Amino acid sequence: MYDFESFQSCDTDDKKLENESVNQGIVENPVTFHCGQCNTVWADSRGICGEATSINSLICLEVTPDVTINSGREWSPDGLFSACVYNTLQCAGCLCLMGVILYSTPQHLSALRNLFLLKKDKMYCYIFSTGQTVKASTLNFNVTPVGERVSELRQLIQETESHLSDVSAVMDDTRANEATSSVQSTS
Ligand SMILES: [Zn+2]
Repeated sequence: MYDFESFQSCDTDDKKLENESVNQGIVENPVTFHCGQCNTVWADSRGICGEATSINSLICLEVTPDVTINSGREWSPDGLFSACVYNTLQCAGCLCLMGVILYSTPQHLSALRNLFLLKKDKMYCYIFSTGQTVKASTLNFNVTPVGERVSELRQLIQETESHLSDVSAVMDDTRANEATSSVQSTS
């Protein structure tokens, strides 16, 4: 059975950063997120879209290939994720279970569906600007409303995809023209 207990609290001895602007300065700059047990990189700040404080987790659109999505769908009959269907996430380095992807949820968790939810108390952050490592539980990543950030990122992905299809259309045209001109030059 999956250990949902550790989703519930952020009960470390770490002091939260008291200065909000220090926190802001850190979380808005490049940070990588690592396994607290084996140092494997799980994600970086580009893939983070916020924090779900109610389940003590970071919300990510993207994780590294070192986060394994376990294939069996599971169902939780009670507790924090009562009536949810989910897949567990596992660290490829040390095999610890470190998060979930929720698929089917009650309404109050619907904003978190299909996103990677990584337990904060299982990870630490490497801060590029200062070269420091700190426990993720000492930082607050809830900098923008999650819904906004998610739709922003999804829009960005869509735009990038449409640019890519434009580029490939142009390349197809170019190739077609080249083919035509080479036919013309050899005739
Ligand atoms: Zn690990």
